[in-house]
Amino acid sequence: MNIKCRQFIENHFSEMVRDLAALVAIPSVKGEPEEGKPFGEGPAAALDAMLALAEKYGFQTKNHEGYVGTIDLDPTLPTTLGILCHLDVVPAGKSGWKSLPYSLFISGGKMYGRGVIDNKGPAIAVLYAMRAIKETGYPITQNVRLIVGTDEESGSSDIAYYKKKEVLPKRVFTPDAEYPLINIEKGRIRGEFSTYSGFAVGNRSILSAFGGTVFNAVPESAYAVVCGFPEDELRTAARAFPKLGFEFTKTEDGYTKVTAKGVSAHASQPERGVNAVTGLCAYLGSLTTDDETARSFARVSSAFPFGDNLGEGLGVAESD
Ligand SMILES: [Zn+2]
Repeated sequence: MNIKCRQFIENHFSEMVRDLAALVAIPSVKGEPEEGKPFGEGPAAALDAMLALAEKYGFQTKNHEGYVGTIDLDPTLPTTLGILCHLDVVPAGKSGWKSLPYSLFISGGKMYGRGVIDNKGPAIAVLYAMRAIKETGYPITQNVRLIVGTDEESGSSDIAYYKKKEVLPKRVFTPDAEYPLINIEKGRIRGEFSTYSGFAVGNRSILSAFGGTVFNAVPESAYAVVCGFPEDELRTAARAFPKLGFEFTKTEDGYTKVTAKGVSAHASQPERGVNAVTGLCAYLGSLTTDDETARSFARVSSAFPFGDNLGEGLGVAESD
């Protein structure tokens, strides 16, 4: 690295951390769309904050209708390099945090906070690399465009929008993975599974079940509403699932709500989490109802067994 650029980064390190802290403080989780905020309040606020920072440092910026922002090193030059970052984050979840998720916390030489690594930290690092080049007067012949998206975690519709309007530079990389280089990612099937539901509901039954928030995170909690079960029986059945936490509450209608608590993790590392949805399915499948509902959950559970991260239940486990 150019010695002056390196010096610049060293001299501005605490400023860089301060800017990152300001971005981390914005809970930029996808929300309900509003005018000019296609992914809701949080991602839009993070985008505004990032572009305001870039402008403060003298860069030309553009907000592409709230989907994407662009920051140019020198827009008078041809743009040949694009650097793709994103400012949206997945929900912080409730468990597993020793510090506040939306407050940058530094301890033992590490930074903690939602989005520090994915991907606000890299976005700020790129901004400072661009500052270093600009402010040290390092000679350049081509423009670098930092493209900051706001919907990477939920399918990158932000970039699809941008590509409809603009041409991506010839070379693009994204500092959103491990060093030094990854050129392929795991695939994912977004499947839908349904079961016959035209049966009569019995007196002992599972009335509804719900779990999960986003596709790319291991769900940390899931619940079901059941009727006709003595609470003792429900508690006893829960003992077969020591990895899950259980809560039993009464609903207004006098039914029992069973909540299963697991541990959230990124979907690419399911072994780090405890999946509350597959756990709840296994639990519900272990109950005895006087209708088909428990058996339906047992069938789901045989395809997606609790603790099976390899697709063994589906018969698709592979190693290479
Ligand atoms: Zn990311």
